[in-house]
Amino acid sequence: MFIGHFALGVATKKIAPTLPIWILLLAPQFMDLLFMPLVALGIEGYEPGAYGHDTLDALYTHSLVGAAVIAALAYWIGNKFWRDSNGGLILAALSFSHWIIDLFVHHQDMAILPGNFGGLPLLGFGLWNFEYSVFAIEVAMAISATAFYVQWARAEQKGLRWFVGPMLVAAFFAILIAADIPRLPAL
Ligand SMILES: [Zn+2]
Repeated sequence: MFIGHFALGVATKKIAPTLPIWILLLAPQFMDLLFMPLVALGIEGYEPGAYGHDTLDALYTHSLVGAAVIAALAYWIGNKFWRDSNGGLILAALSFSHWIIDLFVHHQDMAILPGNFGGLPLLGFGLWNFEYSVFAIEVAMAISATAFYVQWARAEQKGLRWFVGPMLVAAFFAILIAADIPRLPAL
């Protein structure tokens, strides 16, 4: 669901026009951005697999409490830099949306408490087992998000400049989608 998270951020541009597109792209990925250094430090783990079948050990960043803490951090960042445009709430919502979306696709590997303290049941509805459906949803999300962004840019940006942002975002999605295609299971 890497693409889907980015798509949600891009789609938000229309309702949060004063927030720059780069922060809208980053906010839904704060949890994965923190996951990467923790993997490097050996605190969390990542074993690449086919599409939807990576093995993820993200018991801190992707725990429910971890997601709430990261959303609080996003709120602080948003309030610090974009207070006038509800930046705090928007970035916090985007950051936490990562957990909600992951809950649907992840295999049961998402903890409630950090480090799966107390051994509570792990969560994840496992939609990643339906690789083609989830991939189709991601592509649809990327296309709709870009369309929303184009709509906003055409209305709000002067001259030919409107074209630049959506073109870069479309290219970015195209690269991510192309990179995922070889990872899909054979038909
Ligand atoms: Zn994630």
